Amino acid sequence: MLGAIEAGGTKFVLAVGPAPGTITARHVIPTRDPDITLAEAADWFLDQGQISALGIASFGPVELDPAAPCWGHITNTPKPGWADCDIAGFFAKVLGVAVGFDTDVNAAALAEYAAAEGEGCRSLAYLTIGTGIGGGLVLDGAPVHGIAHPEMGHIYPRRHPADQNFAGVCPHHGDCLEGLASGPAIIARWGASLSELGPGHEAHAIIADYVAQACHMLFASVAAERVVIGGGVAKTEGLVERIAARTAELSAGYLPGGPRHKVLAPQLGENAGITGAMMLAEAAIRTR
Ligand code: ZN
Repeated sequence: MLGAIEAGGTKFVLAVGPAPGTITARHVIPTRDPDITLAEAADWFLDQGQISALGIASFGPVELDPAAPCWGHITNTPKPGWADCDIAGFFAKVLGVAVGFDTDVNAAALAEYAAAEGEGCRSLAYLTIGTGIGGGLVLDGAPVHGIAHPEMGHIYPRRHPADQNFAGVCPHHGDCLEGLASGPAIIARWGASLSELGPGHEAHAIIADYVAQACHMLFASVAAERVVIGGGVAKTEGLVERIAARTAELSAGYLPGGPRHKVLAPQLGENAGITGAMMLAEAAIRTR
């Protein structure tokens, strides 16, 4: 039996099951102070019987370098109480099992990659558009970490002609992608979500343009074959299709991957992150 945690800023999704994609029990708890939330999660796993490994797909930033003393920690998050939280170490100790650890978006990318691999896909990025914007990347089956992990939400897109004056909401960069196209950025500009504004509102084209620039960047810079778009904002009816169409315009028929480049909604829907966390558990057994 594998255990999995999708650790988010507002909720923790917990699950157990015999294999990735087969969840036999699931439980959701709110994210409060780390000592409360981690203890609550550990109690739930202890009630499920013995698991052989745990995978954690965490909000970030996190330390992913296995050689670093603070591997498995959430690092300098502004979320009160969570900075320097040794989340992987806590569960390794309390549950006594091997722990696999990665970002929530790398885990989601892993799960979507596994779902797409049967169709020959060898490179996939997962972008989440919600309270923030984050991205994970899997190339030839391995999640990309680089010096830490990608922070694709913080690239600077070219400004849309009809959106020249909004300063953006990112506390670090102002008008980076997250500052311009996240849920809070939409509310800050128009006072409502895209769904509430309706499909005819110019906000849809503006947000689609920004996210499409990120998709084109992924196609052009790392030759990703697919970009999967998840997160709350991406559930807006028609938005992923709009992003796909705008990405094709921006790519202008030039890229060598041609029509193989695709922008899609998650095949696994809401389960991408937790399924990826189970894959991290499985990998932790292999590498123990
Ligand atoms: Zn930023």
